[in-house]
Order: sequence, then C-alpha cells, then structure tokens
Amino acid sequence: MGKGGKGAEAAAAAVAGAGEEENMAAWLVAKNNLKIMPFKLPPVGPYDVRVRMKAVGICGSDVHYLREMRVAHFVVKEPMVIGHECAGVIEEVGSGVTHLAVGDRVALEPGISCWRCRHCKGGRYNLCEDMKFFATPPVHGSLANQIVHPGDLCFKLPENVSLEEGAMCEPLSVGVHACRRADVGPETGVLIMGAGPIGLVTLLAARAFGAPRVVIVDVDEHRLSVARSLGADAAVRVSARAEDVGEEVERISTAMGGDIDVSLDCAGFSKTVATALQATRGGGKVCLVGMGHNEMTVPLTSAAIREVDVVGIFRYKDTWPLCIELLRSGKIDVKPLITHRFGFSQEDVEAAFEVSARGRDAIKVMFNL
Ligand SMILES: [Zn+2]
Ligand SMILES: [Zn+2]
Repeated sequence: MGKGGKGAEAAAAAVAGAGEEENMAAWLVAKNNLKIMPFKLPPVGPYDVRVRMKAVGICGSDVHYLREMRVAHFVVKEPMVIGHECAGVIEEVGSGVTHLAVGDRVALEPGISCWRCRHCKGGRYNLCEDMKFFATPPVHGSLANQIVHPGDLCFKLPENVSLEEGAMCEPLSVGVHACRRADVGPETGVLIMGAGPIGLVTLLAARAFGAPRVVIVDVDEHRLSVARSLGADAAVRVSARAEDVGEEVERISTAMGGDIDVSLDCAGFSKTVATALQATRGGGKVCLVGMGHNEMTVPLTSAAIREVDVVGIFRYKDTWPLCIELLRSGKIDVKPLITHRFGFSQEDVEAAFEVSARGRDAIKVMFNL
C-alpha cells in the first residue's frame, strides 16, 4: 500500500457497506515479494460453497513460485494468490449443494478438473489438461480469508480431526497416491528416498497401507531422526556423491534385511533414482514422486533387464476420503509434522515463508487464519 493506503482502505470498506468485510489474500506479486491485498471473490454458483479459511500449509511448490515465479512450465505472469493446502469452515452453500451445510468444517481438494476429457472420463482426473488448480498460474490459490470452491471438492471433517490436520490431507494425498500407484501393501518391503515433508508423508502412508518394513534414506541426520520417530524401521544416512551409490545400495539392502519390493523416490535427483533402481529387487517397482531434476542420467538398462517397473505420479486423485479416514481412525498422525505456526499479517506471511524456505527443522509451516 502506498501513501494514504489506510484512507483508501477505509473508503473502500465504507463503499462495501457496514458489516461487509473486505476479503484479503496473500498475493505473489514478484520474485520474493508477497503482499496481503484485497481479493474479490467470484459469486457462489449453485454447486459452489464459500469457505472461511482456517488452516493453510506452505508447500515446497509455494516457496518455489516465490523464489522463481515459476515451477516447471507453469509461469506466474500476473499477481497470483498463493497457497493450496487448506481447510476451513463453510459460510455459504450454493442451492444445488446437498451434502454440506453452513458451519461444516471441511478439507479442500485444490484441483478443479473438467470432467469432460478422456482422462476425467477414464477416472484419472489428475491428468486432466484443463485442470484449474489452486496457485498454479493463472489460477488463484487459497491463502485468503475466504474462497469460493466447488462443493464436491470440500470434504467434511469428523469431530476428532482438526482443521490443521484437514489441511495436511493435501501433502498426505501425495503419499497415498504414490503408495496406490506402487501397489504398497502388507507384503511390500518399502524404500523411501528422501526424508523431507513428502518423504515423511509417504512414510506415514506406506505404514498405513500395511508395509511391514520401511527403510528411509536422506543426507541429513536431523530429518532421519524425525523419520525414525515417525515409524521408519531403519534410516540410512547417505552422501550427495554419485560415486557412493554402489556402497550405499549395499548398506540400504542390509538395513532392509530382505527384498526391496518398492522404492518411492521422494527426492528426484539422478543419484536418488539411480540408487532406487539398483536397490529394488527384480520384478519390483520404482515410483518417482519427487522432482528434483528435470533430466537425469540413470542406469535404466540394468533395471529394465530385471523387469523393474518405473512409474511416475502427478499430484493425486480421489484421496481425500481415505486421508480423512486414516486421520480419524488414528492410523496416521500428521500432527508431529506441523512444526511452525503463523498468523495472517504481512509480517507473519513473510516470516513463515522464510522459515519454510530455510528448511532445517521446519517440516510443515502452517497459517492459522
Ligand atoms: Zn502441497
Ligand atoms: Zn478433464
């Protein structure tokens, strides 16, 4: 806000009428520049709901957009509201929404797919080419006081699941979708490369899917100790040097003490993929979850002749009901992942993104609005 901003705000509020608050949101306006500014809501359509945001988490992709104004081929060209891991309370429901009522606490799935294309019709709506996804340009995100969203993408939370846990359904969905894609079950020995936020939610999901043994790998001792406390059977410290792969695969195999049936690479670097490909048993699966490098050189042939399947994932589909059930039943506890909390002032938003970007002991940074 420039000079006289306060006066202008007051005038705008007066125009809006008594009692009508101005909806504010965190806008990404330029590299390393987030500003809390007014955000005009679209009208609530018959199948929409208006939600008062209560908990919004910061994702690695949010930090990436803030630093670079882009993620892969998605480029921020105009100011965009950031944030996509969220939960809140319903304040208004469209006339056609029958499963939700004012006052319901809900977790929001961020992607609105077209429901018309072959991917949507085939049940893989996460691959929809006409997807409108929170905080993926040019679509606005959800770090705002209120947002309008389709009711069918809002999932009611049981009484014993908090709004913060509701917001955690988004990152947890990545782990759940990865475990589904890789067919993790009660007989699957699982290796997870990377103990960052996504590696940790994938660990929790693999456990909940019944994996009898989970080994996790990282370069950072603190992250590994967190992974141990969250239920990893073994945590193996590795280096960032490519020439160590052979020796590390041996240590990882020893830590598993049996076959590695599935490797979930939550880092996505040439070295981590190479390690996963070599460590996974013949006939097993490697699932690429993290996307550190866009292009990599990996020993694919030696994996191919052992019939190791390589699968990728893109976001998730149809994961909220299961995530909520896993939280409700206590099969998954995401609360230890929430390490930092902030309010929703300009200073809070700046500080929160700094803490999240710094990493170290920060796993999930959460806004309480
Ligand atoms: Zn996220
Ligand atoms: Zn579609």
